[in-house]
Amino acid sequence: MQIEAMVRAVQAKLGVGVDGRAGPETWSAIYKRIVDRGSPADLALTETADRANARSERVIATLHARVQPYARALYFKAREHGLTINIISGLRSYAEQDALYAQGRNRPGDVVTNARGGYSNHNFGIAFDVGLFEHNQYLGESPMYKAVGALGEELGLEWGGNWRSIVDQPHFQLRPDWAIGLRERDMLAELRQRTANGVDAFA
Ligand SMILES: [Zn+2]
Repeated sequence: MQIEAMVRAVQAKLGVGVDGRAGPETWSAIYKRIVDRGSPADLALTETADRANARSERVIATLHARVQPYARALYFKAREHGLTINIISGLRSYAEQDALYAQGRNRPGDVVTNARGGYSNHNFGIAFDVGLFEHNQYLGESPMYKAVGALGEELGLEWGGNWRSIVDQPHFQLRPDWAIGLRERDMLAELRQRTANGVDAFA
């Protein structure tokens, strides 16, 4: 499905003007739905029985059990809209996060993160990254990431494309109920504390 057709489908579903172009009205309507969305706990009750492809499932297996159905739901929802995505990154240990943080600083490469170990939601299994694929080719950048972002937000996920500091369109995360309304750094502090104490991220 072409992006125009996908946008038409989204617009039709949202009941906004159908013109096949992703105008500001479409996205603001989507964002409004996101702000008004229900509790993110809903989806865990309707866990999809279908499994994603092997590549994605390997990553999904690293995620918190509460997050796994969301990753699968996004995988299938995107495909229903003609967008081929894989789940390409999930849990990272603090050490793996530190290595990533070093990249572009005291190691070669481009800076890819501002988060040291313990300061990324990936360190707690509540975040994952998707990759878009077209004709079996990975697309590092594409306007279609915005469409995937809207679909993820419909599911109740937070989307890195809305971040102001580092816009991270492939990134999705599930905020625990106790963290609703918390600043990101306060949520991360609590998650580090819980990890140190062996307390579940969603308890
Ligand atoms: Zn990410």
